[in-house]
Parts: sequence; structure tokens; C-alpha cells
Amino acid sequence: MKNTIVLYPALGRGHLLSMIELGKLILTHNSSFSIKILIPTPPNTTSIDTTAFGCDSSITFHHITTVSSSSTTTLPPHLLAFDTCRRTNQNFHHALQSISKTTNLKAIVMDFMNYSAKEVTNTLDIPTYFYYTSGASTLCVMLNCPSVPKNSKKSLIQIPGLPTISSEDMPEAALDSESVFHNIFRDLATSMRDSDGIIINTFDAIERKAINALKEGLCYQEKGMIPPVFCIGPVTSAPCVEEDKNGCLSWLDSQPSQSVVLLSFGSLGRFSKTQLKEIAFGLEKSEQRFLWVVRSDSDEESLEELLPQGFLERTKDKGMVVKNWAPQAAILSHDSVGGFVTHCGWNSVLEAVCEGVPLVAWPLYAEQKLNRVVLVEEMKVALALKESKDGLVSATELGNRVKELMESEKGKEIRERVFNMKMSAVEARARGGTSCVALNGLAELWKEEDHLMLYSPNT
Ligand code: UDP
Repeated sequence: MKNTIVLYPALGRGHLLSMIELGKLILTHNSSFSIKILIPTPPNTTSIDTTAFGCDSSITFHHITTVSSSSTTTLPPHLLAFDTCRRTNQNFHHALQSISKTTNLKAIVMDFMNYSAKEVTNTLDIPTYFYYTSGASTLCVMLNCPSVPKNSKKSLIQIPGLPTISSEDMPEAALDSESVFHNIFRDLATSMRDSDGIIINTFDAIERKAINALKEGLCYQEKGMIPPVFCIGPVTSAPCVEEDKNGCLSWLDSQPSQSVVLLSFGSLGRFSKTQLKEIAFGLEKSEQRFLWVVRSDSDEESLEELLPQGFLERTKDKGMVVKNWAPQAAILSHDSVGGFVTHCGWNSVLEAVCEGVPLVAWPLYAEQKLNRVVLVEEMKVALALKESKDGLVSATELGNRVKELMESEKGKEIRERVFNMKMSAVEARARGGTSCVALNGLAELWKEEDHLMLYSPNT
């Protein structure tokens, strides 16, 4: 029977894509494994067409029907994924039993959001690893969150591995010790501490202090064995050059080297019309070339309706605006791109680092304010954009930061630093590099790992 590694992503396409990349990477380090990816699939939805992912025959897929709470309205949307995973445990259990009848199941790697599925792998005694797809710094915060003092509003917080963080930059839920999140994070920290290892999409040269804090176990409140940490990043999807549907890449071909600033804000970043107006005027003020991906609260309106009157006409020689989506990774890899205003999502950060593109950090949601602190103070690859009290970023602030990034001495230093990180990323992944060694270590462990699958008679 073939040695099999099961990957269990959380619900949602982004989580699935990250796991697929991990699967491909595992196979480059040991092609004798077979990889089985379990896709959580809500009932009454069409199964995802997996042929589109370009995986070879060593990667196969298995859909697991998810079970959601009947009273989903009582749960905030960001807690649904945790809850759904717990409710789906029985189907997960069945899937593992069926897989282990025909393969030699060596280990399971699960998305950290699926932490409650560890109850199942404990019962079956299968070695369990977590995959954390954001950075080591945010993981340090999440593991420490239950110890953040109550009422720590407007204070400075010390967390091992991180610079001092203002409470304003912490995710809101982390500051409220009464919130459901605190309990989730506490259970998550326990599951991670008791796991066989934590795989993180990062690498030493960008988050050394946070990685060391995790490796030394400084982030766990409860005592116990410290799980090994495997930093295998940067893992990014390969830029897909075929997808130039809106002509961004051919427009970039006609621009000078490193002259264009990309503005793109992840899969959820949307702005009010007022904010869009400020961005537009800020870009004009900056006098820089730009490529701007606009997603807005009002989907039906055209770009002409969303943006200030005459903006598109006035800037047509310097800028390009596209609606909703652009091939970001391919754009960042284009020689004409010289700066990136980003919402600080971790994938965007890694894509920029891998291409040596300096950043202006404009966090919008989730853990992104923390990422801004890390990008500006630890990695020193970004200028921080400051919001005013009402949360709006003014045209002046945006224009000044973009100009500073592209034209000032400080911008030049940042550019050089991120270029060095690009080189470090290449080294980390190359033979003998830290990420390559970490992956080899995992592959060796999984080759050796042997366990007895315990069957529970009632399932
Ligand atoms: N992305 C893209 N085009 C867009 C917006 C986003 O290709 O117009 C991709 C981007 O390259 C990245 C991912 O979507 O790989 C966004 O992930 P990230 O972690 O940066 O942010 P999230 O969407 O999870 O907040």
C-alpha cells in the first residue's frame, strides 16, 4: 500500500488552493508519497472541478459533506468555519477510515481553522500536523491571545517574538476576553501544542524573532511538550500569464521599468465612494504611474460612475484602472511594477517579497493591522499608511506615501531591503536552504512515522 499524506483544508477556495500548493511541494521532496486532499463541501453544492488545479496523479481529491449549524444566524460569519468543522467531524472520521483501508496513512496536515478535527485524529491515533497559512508573527499573537489582559484597550502589549504592539493594532476580538474567540484561541493553542508539528508559510529571513519564539515554546500559556515548527515558505501560487483578460499585463509591457505602483486589496477589500475619491485624487497628486484594482460597495456601478468625474480621462496616459480582479501575482512579477499599496494579506505580502516589490501598508480587515506592524517595524519593507480618526485615508496621505515610496531615499532603502529578501527567499527554497531542509525533515519523518490505526466500533 502506498504511503499517503492526507491534507484537510478549511472550507473555502483560498484555503483549498493553499493546501494544493503544499501538496505539490511535499511531492517535490518525496515523490513516493500519495497525497489525498479532503475538500469540505456544503450539501447541495456542486463538487469543485479538481482537474483545473493541474495536479499530477499522485494528488487525489475526496469531497467531505459539511454539516452546518441549523441556527447559523446566531453565529458571526468568521466563527462559522470553526463551528462547521466541529460539526463535520463524524464525516471526517468516516473518510479517514475509508482511506486507511486502501492506503498506508502516514500523517494528516490540517488547516489551523480545522483544529477541532484533531479530536478525531486523536481517536484514530494518526500523527497530526497543522498548516498555518499566515505569518509566524500573527500565530504568536493568536496563541498568546488568551493571556492579553482584559480591558487592554489603548495600551501597549508585549508578546514574545513581536515588537511592542499597540492594542489598536490587535484584532478586536483578541482584546475582549469575554468573546467566543478567546475560548476558540485557547482550544486552538492547546491543539497546536499537542500536535506533531506546525507547518508555517514563512521563512527565517523575514520573521526570525517570531519563529524563534514559536520554536522555544514561548507562546504557549499551558505547559507541555513544544511541537516542532517547520517553516517552509514562501509558498505562493505560480503567476498565471495566460490570464490577461483585462489587458493589465500588455499595458505594463508599455511602461518603463519599475515605474508603476500597483494598488490591490485582496479578495474582500472594498471601499466606499468617498474613499475611492480620496484614492483617485491621491494618485493624481503623487504623479506616479499606477495600476489600480477597484472593488467597491456598489457592484453595479461602472468605473466612470464610481470614480471622480474626468479622472479616467485625465490619468489615461499614466494609469490603468480595472474592476474587481486582476492577475496580481503575474502583475507583481512584471518588470514595470515598482511599488505596491497592499491591504497586508499574507499571500500578497509573500508575493511582493518574492518579486522584490516594496510596499505601502494599508490594512483593512482580520489580522492585517498586525501585519502592518511586522512589515514596517520588523521586516522594514513597507511605509505605513495612516488612517484618520474616522478610518478614512486622505488623498494627501496616500499621495505622499506613494511618492515617498517611489522617489525618496527612504523608499530606495526599502526597495534594497525587499530585494535582499527576494534573494533570501530564493536561498530558503533552494537545496540546503532553511525551507528546503524543513520540508525534507517532514518528508523523512513521514517516511518513518508508523502508527496503529485504532478503530472505534461505533463509527
Ligand atoms: N488576488 C488576485 N487578484 C486580485 C486580488 C487578489 O490575484 O485582484 C490574489 C492575490 O494575488 C493573493 C490572494 O488573491 O494570492 C489574496 O490573498 P491575501 O492573503 O493577500 O488576502 P485575502 O484575500 O486572503 O485577504
